[in-house]
Amino acid sequence: MRRTIFDETHAAFRQTVRKILAQEVEPHAERWEDEGIVPRELYPRLAQGGLLGLQIPEEHGGGGQRSFLYNAVVTEEIARGSSFLGQVNLHMNVVVPYFLHLATPAQQARWLPGMASGATMGAIAMTEPGTGSDLAGMATTAVREGDHWILNGAKTFITGGAHAGLVIVVARTARTEDRRGGLTLLVVEDGTPGFTRGRPLRKLGLHAQDTTELFFTDVRVPVENVLGEEGGAFAHLTSNLPQERLSIAVGSQAMSEAMITETVEYVTSRQVFGKSLATFQNTRFTLAALAAQAESVRHMVDRALAELDAGELSAADAAKAKLVATELQGRIADECLQLHGGYGYVREYPIARRYADARVSRIYGGSNEIMKSIIAKSLGL
Ligand SMILES: Cc1cc2nc3c(=O)[nH]c(=O)nc-3n(C[C@H](O)[C@H](O)[C@H](O)COP(=O)(O)OP(=O)(O)OC[C@H]3O[C@@H](n4cnc5c(N)ncnc54)[C@H](O)[C@@H]3O)c2cc1C
Repeated sequence: MRRTIFDETHAAFRQTVRKILAQEVEPHAERWEDEGIVPRELYPRLAQGGLLGLQIPEEHGGGGQRSFLYNAVVTEEIARGSSFLGQVNLHMNVVVPYFLHLATPAQQARWLPGMASGATMGAIAMTEPGTGSDLAGMATTAVREGDHWILNGAKTFITGGAHAGLVIVVARTARTEDRRGGLTLLVVEDGTPGFTRGRPLRKLGLHAQDTTELFFTDVRVPVENVLGEEGGAFAHLTSNLPQERLSIAVGSQAMSEAMITETVEYVTSRQVFGKSLATFQNTRFTLAALAAQAESVRHMVDRALAELDAGELSAADAAKAKLVATELQGRIADECLQLHGGYGYVREYPIARRYADARVSRIYGGSNEIMKSIIAKSLGL
């Protein structure tokens, strides 16, 4: 079925994004996957093509787009490409929006130009070694001392943490009766004394997307680096997480479609028992069923994108989109790998990498169990 959310301008932009990724990422993707990180210089190069700051106002060097659809185009093309650059998605789809929605004009003038030019990549640090799903249980604290907050704690699994020039750190700044209160967003800048990073974690998949532990020991964060309301972090996270979840759904859906296309190509060329693998009923029925399911999820994700642009996307609907798109992505990765036989298990074939990359979609951005909790709540349960 025809997609209706994009027009010719988006189509032209998609061609540009493909060209940039073909030039800047594809020739190096295998090496970066092996090295577990991309070079920092990649980011300004992507920014030159306008990829990093699409929604940043033009006065701060960005593309000035109000719509999320251009971000969606980049997210889809990254998901279809030869290396999943989740740190780029996170920067433009998650971190930049926090600054657009919450930063004061002075903070925007200070930080947005670097985020648009790729000089300053952003990260967000919520998860801790002791707590992930239960955000209100975090142990990182900040205590006010004059014009500074003194930050202490550790964060883990931070996407893009290795190269981040700015990290939005969620810290407990007060004890309140409601444990969701008293949390504050503090922007910690690269080079601040007491802020250190661990080595990127060695993961099952997403090898070129660095995921890093961050440590904060008596870090003096100036009060002017508070993002949004002091004590208001939980509400800020709640209003920004639907966009993050939808962006995961967008990437998962694009990867699902890529896996089906790549598997159709593979089964067409592979000969078994003297004939094409594509002629077996199991192959045809498997891919037909997956294509039909992908089509149905596609329409849900596109509808959610339209609702996000209209300012109408609810937390429960974003959770539904993330849930179904990532569950289907996992099934497609598994069944498409099976159709590749042994070749599906070697990394020369894209399906092997995609299988490993896809697994985390059901875990991060809020696990799918948390998505179900949000949806259940919307049902009054
Ligand atoms: C590659 C990667 C990148 C990431 N990037 C970031 C990042 O940039 N910033 C960041 O802050 N975090 C990031 N994360 C962390 C991620 O968001 C957490 O891993 C996730 O929220 C789950 O938290 P946890 O790992 O502590 O699991 P836990 O919270 O310990 O959960 C363990 C299991 O229990 C289930 N569970 C938990 N609570 C409930 C409940 N109430 N009901 C039913 N089941 C429940 C979970 O669904 C899961 O299956 C990343 C993680 C990975 C792997």
